[in-house]
Amino acid sequence: MLAELKGLNEECGIFGIWGHPDAAQITYYGLHSLQHRGQEGAGIVVSNGEKLKAHKGEGLVTEVFAGGQIEDLKGKAAIGHVRYATAGGGGIENVQPLLFHSQVGGLAIAHNGNLVNANDLKHQLEHQGSIFQTTSDTEVLAHLTRRSGYTKIHDRVKNALTMLKGAYAFILMTEKKMMVALDPNGLRPLSLGRLGDAYVVASETCAFDVVGADYIRDVEPGEFLIINDEGIHSEFFSRNTNRAICSMEYIYFSRPDSDIGGINIHTARKSLGKKLAHEAVIEADVVTGVPDSSMSAAIGFAEASGIPYELGLIKNRYVGRTFIQPSQSLREQGVKMKLSPVRGVVEGKRVVMVDDSIVRGTTSRRIVSMLREAGATEVHVRISSPPIKNPCFYGIDTSTHEELIASSHSVEEMRKIIGADSLVFLSEQGLVDAIGRDDEGEYRGQCMACFTGKYPTDIYPDTVLPHEKA
Ligand code: SF4
Repeated sequence: MLAELKGLNEECGIFGIWGHPDAAQITYYGLHSLQHRGQEGAGIVVSNGEKLKAHKGEGLVTEVFAGGQIEDLKGKAAIGHVRYATAGGGGIENVQPLLFHSQVGGLAIAHNGNLVNANDLKHQLEHQGSIFQTTSDTEVLAHLTRRSGYTKIHDRVKNALTMLKGAYAFILMTEKKMMVALDPNGLRPLSLGRLGDAYVVASETCAFDVVGADYIRDVEPGEFLIINDEGIHSEFFSRNTNRAICSMEYIYFSRPDSDIGGINIHTARKSLGKKLAHEAVIEADVVTGVPDSSMSAAIGFAEASGIPYELGLIKNRYVGRTFIQPSQSLREQGVKMKLSPVRGVVEGKRVVMVDDSIVRGTTSRRIVSMLREAGATEVHVRISSPPIKNPCFYGIDTSTHEELIASSHSVEEMRKIIGADSLVFLSEQGLVDAIGRDDEGEYRGQCMACFTGKYPTDIYPDTVLPHEKA
């Protein structure tokens, strides 16, 4: 599904490289490949060994660096960030990497995720005299780091990390070193790679392919990497870990050419589609997927069901981004502009429409009705994930309970609302089995909280949801 139509948005993508003469340029390409994770702001901070220099702005990576600013970012280490923010949120001060200067030097921070105790910590820090420059939860780490009693910067950062709760993949950089940290649940993806003598870190492995780096491994939950001119050093700031990688990364967010935990995203989505075909047998003439993220699941569904896969829906790639449009009626218009049914494929046919998820239901209703208008005799909707009933506190903007159709409606009620002849969601067990991670535990290393309501961390009463950030 098209992210901007669905009301389901990734918060950020991060990239870092240490030890390459073209560090900023490579980071630019890395960020470009992570653009699907956030389109509202982008930034790069570079280190030349003496000082840190930043350029950032609102918009796409290509827009932010359209004026040749990359040429001015000289140095052999860089970190970068792409950011998503809902309408009204954001602002240039919240575009990352955040850069802080003190008497002992600079500290740049790029963060993917959402801290569930940020408000608690912020109140405490303000009480102790901290003044915040942004409304981003990320800044809490900078203040905690500054206040830590340890001498060395990496000890101060490690100490600060132990106070954070929630989801965080961090890349931090001083003039002399890069530091990488992943929360004890490993909620957000983060991988380590190598490009010649340089080390690279990225939210998704697709960024490695783009810059020609080799994948080494995923960063472990609770792990803390220090990378400098001497090489790489791994330690753990927490051993109290319990892997719960976001299931939606497999289902929807990550690029199909990325791997998480050694599992290719396209392959995982195909398996979800196959599992769904076994769980929800149907007689039909064609299977079609909603572009782009549901195509893999639709192919899997077709393979397992024996019903031919066809391109029943086409995405218009040249429509401007519409997700800043606030009203539902405008969003519905956006669907028409962005997707078209292929009449020659669906006319007179019983169509299985595979989608990866239903958030508000508005988009599904529009697509079902478009398929009918194009002559489909039946439209059977198959969703390659369980119903999303709960909000995400970990960096995915899944809307509130009130906006999530599945939180207040049965499957049959949803079927009627979207106007489908039948509607079936993949089961929770089917999701876990289809992805096939080999971790132990009920969900085999996946976070399933938006389906089950079982959150892998404590949730604080005043946790700020991503879309509520000012
Ligand atoms: S609650 Fe859902 S969207 Fe959020 S991290 Fe967990 S699986 Fe991902």
